Amino acid sequence: MTDQHAGLPSVKLSRRGIERWRAGHPWIYESDVEAPKSLKGGEVVRVIDHKGYLLGQAFFSRASKISLRWLSWDDTPIDEAFFASRIAAADALRRKLYPGEDTYRLIHSEADGIPGLVVDRYGDALSAQFLVPATEQRKELIADLLMKHFDAKAIVNRSDVGVRKLEGLEQEKGVLRGELKGPKAYLEGHVRLSADLLQGQKTGTFLDQRENHVLASSYATGEALDCFSYVGGFALQLALKASKVTAVEISEAACATLKENAAANGLKNVDVVSANAFDWLRDAVDEGRKFDTIVLDPPSFAKNKGAIEAATRGYKEINLRALQLLKPGGHLITCSCTYHVDEEAFEAMLDSAAADAKRKVQIVEKRGAARDHPVLLGLRETRYLKCFVLRAL
Ligand code: SAH
Repeated sequence: MTDQHAGLPSVKLSRRGIERWRAGHPWIYESDVEAPKSLKGGEVVRVIDHKGYLLGQAFFSRASKISLRWLSWDDTPIDEAFFASRIAAADALRRKLYPGEDTYRLIHSEADGIPGLVVDRYGDALSAQFLVPATEQRKELIADLLMKHFDAKAIVNRSDVGVRKLEGLEQEKGVLRGELKGPKAYLEGHVRLSADLLQGQKTGTFLDQRENHVLASSYATGEALDCFSYVGGFALQLALKASKVTAVEISEAACATLKENAAANGLKNVDVVSANAFDWLRDAVDEGRKFDTIVLDPPSFAKNKGAIEAATRGYKEINLRALQLLKPGGHLITCSCTYHVDEEAFEAMLDSAAADAKRKVQIVEKRGAARDHPVLLGLRETRYLKCFVLRAL
C-alpha cells in the first residue's frame, strides 16, 4: 500500500452495499454506507467491508443520495496520472470510432471511468460539466490535463445543469481556460453545423444524436417533416435527399440558427416553422397532410419517476399523429431521451399509438446514442436515448 493511499479516509459498506459493489454497480447509496462524520464530500475514499478488507476506491458525495461512485477495484493512486490515463483511454476509443474527426463526446462520466465528469470536444475547444463535488474540486487539475492532451485553445465550463443541486452545488457557466472565439464548426456526414459552446443547449449541442442524424438521410425521400428540430441536426440531413423538409421548432432563436445552417449548406428546400409541435401536428392531421419521412426528437418529458405517465401520454400523442401523417411505405424516425421511459415502455407506447392510428408498422432499426456515449454495463442510467426507425405498411 502506498503512503498516499494509507492516508485516505475509509467508508464501510453494509452487506447489501458489498453485494452491489461486487456485482459491479458503480453507485452505492447513502443507506448502504457508514462514512466518517468528518467527510464533507468530494473526497477519494477507500471502500471497505465489515472486516476492513479493501474493496476499491470511490468518489464520496455528502449531499447526494448516491454516496459513492466507483473509481477502482484496488488501491491504485487516484492522482494526476490516474486522470491522465482515463482521459487518454477515452480519447483512444473516439479516435478509433471517428478517425480524423475532432468533434465528439470525450468523457461520458461513469461510462469512461471518471464519474461526474462530462467533456465534449469541438476541435480545439472543449466543453465540460463537473457534476459531483469530487470533479468540481478537481476541475483545475482536469482542465490542465485536457489543455495539455489536446493542445486546446479554450475550455468552457457548462456546469449550468439542475443535477448539480442534488450534490449541493450551484450552477456555473463560463470560460474556464483560454479564449473562446465564436461558435465551433463541425461536420455531421455531409452537413456542416456549428455549436455555440456558451449559449447552446447542453455542452453546445446534441452530440448524442450525431450518428442518428446522418442515418436519417439514408431514409429520407419525398416530403419530410422534422419536429423538435433545434438547429436542424435532423432537418438538414433530410434535406440532402428529400424534395422538401418542414422543420417545426418552438424556440425562435433555434429557428434563426436553423435557417442560417440551411443557408450555409446551400440547402434551399427547408421550410422552418416556429410553432408548438403538438399543435402543429394536430392541425396537419386535420388538414389531411401526408409525409414520406418524419422525425420526432422531443425534449425529455419526464425528469423523474412521478412524471412517467404524463410523459408516455405526450409521446403517444405525437407518435400517433406522426403515424396518421405517414404515407404507406414511409419512415418514422422516433426518439426519446427520457431515461425513465425505457426501451420496453417506449416500444409499448408505439404499439398502442400504431393500434390507435390503425397502422401496421415495422421496426426497421432500434438505436441508441452515438458510440461516443457508451453505455456502461451495470448502470442503466447510461442507456437513456432511444431512436427507432419505423416503416408503415
Ligand atoms: N432534434 C434536435 C434536438 C431536439 S432537442 C437535434 O437532433 O439536434 C428538443 C427541441 O425541442 C429543443 O430545441 C426545444 O426548443 C424544442 N421544443 C421543446 N418543446 C417544443 C414544442 N412543444 N414544440 C416544438 N419544439 C419544442
